[in-house]
Amino acid sequence: MKSRDPSDRRAVSRRLKAETTSLQVRTAGLQAELAATLERSRDLVWAAHRRRCGDGVEAVVVAGASDAGVQDVISDKISRGLLPTERPLKLWVGRGNGRACDGCGLRIGPTHMEHEFDFPNGRTVRFHDDCTAVWRRALVSQAEDERRPSAGGEDTIAAD
Ligand SMILES: [Zn+2]
Repeated sequence: MKSRDPSDRRAVSRRLKAETTSLQVRTAGLQAELAATLERSRDLVWAAHRRRCGDGVEAVVVAGASDAGVQDVISDKISRGLLPTERPLKLWVGRGNGRACDGCGLRIGPTHMEHEFDFPNGRTVRFHDDCTAVWRRALVSQAEDERRPSAGGEDTIAAD
């Protein structure tokens, strides 16, 4: 049964407006919750990295911990041209002496190994053990991306 009474339509319109407002409030609440959760997950990833690479802290292996946060930071630095992508001339490995890692930005303390790379342009960058691995992996995956032709078809397999 359909009502054509304008006061009913106004009531429906008021109800829809109230529902929309309540959904907007809930959406804002969920967005805030999501932002807080993302922030917390980034903190946890960094905490795991700090436990391994932080200065003077006993290394603790955290089950399921990933370097995702550090990978993001290093990939971002590479794509913005802040980290070298060419082959280094020399590599020095030794105990850290408190200088900042060019990858994660944390200090490389004496309890960690520092990898120092000299490049043909005279640039020197230093990384933690872990960050060297992340940097190398990022370079390899970038090189693979560049080798992959943008037009498809290279993976065509003859089929009958
Ligand atoms: Zn580092």
